[in-house]
Amino acid sequence: MIKRIKTKLIGNCVLVKGIKRSAIYHLFNCKIFLIPNELYFLFKEEFYIDEISKKYLKLFKHLERHDLFYHCYGLNNFNNFKIINPKYSSASGFYSAYIQFPSINRLQKIIEKLDNENCKYYKILIENYYEIELLTDIMMLFNDSLANSIELSIVYDKNYHVKKYEKLMDNFARLHIIHMYKSPVNKIDKFELNGNIQFINQMTYEFQEDDYIGASNSFNVNYYLYAESLKYNNYFNRKIFIDMGGNIKRTFSETISFGNIFNINLKNIYTNQSFKKYWNIKKDDVAMCKDCEFRYACVDHRIPIKVKNKTWYFKDKCNYSPYTFIFKK
Ligand code: SF4
Repeated sequence: MIKRIKTKLIGNCVLVKGIKRSAIYHLFNCKIFLIPNELYFLFKEEFYIDEISKKYLKLFKHLERHDLFYHCYGLNNFNNFKIINPKYSSASGFYSAYIQFPSINRLQKIIEKLDNENCKYYKILIENYYEIELLTDIMMLFNDSLANSIELSIVYDKNYHVKKYEKLMDNFARLHIIHMYKSPVNKIDKFELNGNIQFINQMTYEFQEDDYIGASNSFNVNYYLYAESLKYNNYFNRKIFIDMGGNIKRTFSETISFGNIFNINLKNIYTNQSFKKYWNIKKDDVAMCKDCEFRYACVDHRIPIKVKNKTWYFKDKCNYSPYTFIFKK
């Protein structure tokens, strides 16, 4: 008698159903695997390999090679295998801040204020020409802060020298990525010890973000993002934008300001319902995105527009269609 092999998706993986196809997110290895919806229904529970239709056996072998499944033989069962249940813990305060660089003194004051609100992630945008020493001075402002991760978005350095930037990133372990826009080429320099530099052939960091929405290389898979995306808008939630003049915004593309960071108590912003308007609008609430298998891995800065109670849409189109699987970028 042929022994049947009972199989189950490993605990680090979650299934995400799209309207026409589905995805397996490997939250530990940060990878996405695409599958037909028929396999989504099979993989939801324990299954036997002989239940897989012949036409999908090659795909299944591919997934197996990436260690996506537990196998059970004989009378064993899966009770002892760990199941991960990602949960988003929504502490108070702002989690991330995008700041247009004002000056060293003013940036220091901004960081001190945000530190008191538990801010963990910073993106500093420098729109004018700079010397690399300025980047070191900026990073030193974070020496005593609670920040976990820092990104810099800067114009292309015509005197770019890989060793100088590698040293900068080695000296500041929390500096994970530098985006250089207005670059003559698109490329990435990855450093051995820490971080990388992404060169972007776009005029501003904002254009880069527009192009990025739904581009095939734009998705990001991890526990934190997945858990946050189930409940919140993964772009606006707990994020604050501070322009060069210190004006507090929900996003840079809006003209409305909620006060100035230098003379306002940030707790008043954090509890302001108007400021938090988009925080709870998740991709599951938005037309088209709710049908998309990438919706818990896709971060975009577009402002959702309300159609009717609990239904939203985006005016600007995304580069991907979950109905045809075509990526424009
Ligand atoms: S349809 Fe929505 S979720 Fe899917 S890639 Fe486009 S923006 Fe992202």
